[in-house]
Amino acid sequence: MDMGMKNIGHSMIFLFFVILFFSCKNDQKNMTDQTMNNKAPILSKKGLIFNWKDSFSESEKEKLETWIKTVYSATENTLGRYPFEVHVNFLRSDQGSTPVSFGLASRKNKKSSIKLYVNPNATLEELKQDWTAPHEFSHLAMPFIGKQDKWFTEGFATYLSRKILMNMGYITEKSFDSLYRAKIKETQPYYESTTKTFIEVSDSLMTHHKYSSFYWGGTSFFLTLDNRLKKQNKPEFIDILKTYQKCCRFKDRNLNQVVHSFDHIIQKPIVQQLLEEYQTKTSRSVMLEYFSF
Ligand SMILES: [Zn+2]
Repeated sequence: MDMGMKNIGHSMIFLFFVILFFSCKNDQKNMTDQTMNNKAPILSKKGLIFNWKDSFSESEKEKLETWIKTVYSATENTLGRYPFEVHVNFLRSDQGSTPVSFGLASRKNKKSSIKLYVNPNATLEELKQDWTAPHEFSHLAMPFIGKQDKWFTEGFATYLSRKILMNMGYITEKSFDSLYRAKIKETQPYYESTTKTFIEVSDSLMTHHKYSSFYWGGTSFFLTLDNRLKKQNKPEFIDILKTYQKCCRFKDRNLNQVVHSFDHIIQKPIVQQLLEEYQTKTSRSVMLEYFSF
């Protein structure tokens, strides 16, 4: 009985070492797989992951990677370091005259990614001057807050895209202001309503596919906001965003929460007040300062 127990004991110890041996092998295999997987797609220390959705030559890949690393570095300098990795998906778009024919940003399942349809024949310089990648990266500075406030999110990304281009040296501070004033002025025929609110007009522009006026119209919110911050000796909006990345980027779920976080950083309800004006005042009165010159 004792001997039997001892044999069982020895067998158990033997079995234990066999299991230990194989589990170590498996761990080692997993580690190797993981290391190999990590090695394959991650090409930047900056948290960028490049995915080639179409076929690109090695020299095209090198050019596109250089371009995106430059834009992303300017994005982080301008809007703050993003507390997550960004997947960059490249698709070919050989036809067309623009370097980037289409872009898209996504924050599905907590995975931040952008999709770019690029013309690989464009030069590095042409790619760098294009606003699409800065626009899509800008979207990621805010969480996804639903599709109902597109006037805000598109105005946000359109406004910040040129701030990033400014950081890259393609736009001066003076030309930034005149560019936005001129572009907002062009939307005047649509935003002259004395009965509808700014948001009602914007929603209608989007429904009727008047995207350019819709995008530039939305930037007025951020240009006005920056002017008000300046008048009250507060940091400019991009500096508010730098703090936002650290404190609040993962916690907000809707526009009110985002606005509340911005005001918390500013320590004054400046963004909330402006939002209320955009929600309640007519589009003409909200846009008046941009139309009366
Ligand atoms: Zn957009």
